[in-house]
Amino acid sequence: MQDEKINIRDLLPEEIGADLAAMGQPAYRAKQVFDWLTRGAGGFGEMTNLPKPLREALAERFYLGAPAVIRKQVSAEDGTVKYLWGLRDGNAVETVVMRYHYGNSVCISTQVGCRQGCAFCASTIGGLVRCLTPGEMLEEVMFSEKESGLKIGHIVLMGIGEPLDNFENVVKFLRLVNHPQGMNIGMRHISLSTCGLTERFAELAEQDLQITLSVSLHAPDDETRSRIMPANRGRGVARLMDECELYFKRTGRRISFEYAMIDGVNDSERQAALLAKYARRVCAHVNLIPLNHVDERAFRPTPPERLRAFKAALEREGVNVTVRRSLGGDIDASCGQLRKKTADAISAGTERL
Ligand code: SAH
Repeated sequence: MQDEKINIRDLLPEEIGADLAAMGQPAYRAKQVFDWLTRGAGGFGEMTNLPKPLREALAERFYLGAPAVIRKQVSAEDGTVKYLWGLRDGNAVETVVMRYHYGNSVCISTQVGCRQGCAFCASTIGGLVRCLTPGEMLEEVMFSEKESGLKIGHIVLMGIGEPLDNFENVVKFLRLVNHPQGMNIGMRHISLSTCGLTERFAELAEQDLQITLSVSLHAPDDETRSRIMPANRGRGVARLMDECELYFKRTGRRISFEYAMIDGVNDSERQAALLAKYARRVCAHVNLIPLNHVDERAFRPTPPERLRAFKAALEREGVNVTVRRSLGGDIDASCGQLRKKTADAISAGTERL
């Protein structure tokens, strides 16, 4: 059932405090309420240290719930856990928990679907349905931790959606998840990945967040990049590099370039040389990603020997480069695949929610 109430998890403690003050409540109540929210309370009735009339008044103004697990997959290879969460309005998004030597990291979605149209990505196939609210993103982190029992120390905004196409909600989510009274996850442990909506870079730098900005570059020349990433059309690599350089100068935070290696598309020597030039110019770290095969897409991953040669060419130019370890290969753990497959199976009548 839909209603007009707002999700109380969309609010910062200060905002909850202002609301409670307007209801004539003492200041310490906001902390009590926010503590319950952070502990993953599923309803106001659980907030037993609040007077009953207050719990009832809160329930009249706000809703509080938890996303439902539609699907959970655990990789037998590396323990990666992937959730398909059912949202209140019937939509679904994916969240992936990855286990690294430095701790557990969660990859969250920022939108239901995506309108950026990258040619190799599964998330964009059905277009954009809607943006996620700050509270919904927070719930992805909170309930992935609670459900999996894996303590989350790092967050990457690399799931379904384009974070900079949902700017205000994403920034508020970052402040919520970083809040000392809340999950308190350090900004330096958070990466935001973008396809390069350059008009938002200055605004992001102004937020002074200390997060890591990852730019999904995937090609250093306009011809290739505009072909595989429509977001490049009308913006262009030159402007992207100018904005990256400014972002680095304004924030002092090194950017990383994501580069999915696609056979015969972006893995030539000429492209390695151009990529190296740009990476050096903006002091970016380059993350090479073996392309994940998506059924609907014709692209193939670059063969391992050529990937090694590409990496070596960057290193010879003094570029800081790593190859991303592929996790969860046995559970379709790349963007949009689980949501897409489940939606296909449901519409084909082979599966029901
Ligand atoms: N919209 C944002 C974040 C979501 S995508 C962005 O574009 O950065 C997260 C990362 O996965 C991006 O770098 C994206 O380009 C990459 N990606 C998408 N499909 C992929 C695939 N099939 N194989 C490898 N990487 C992929």
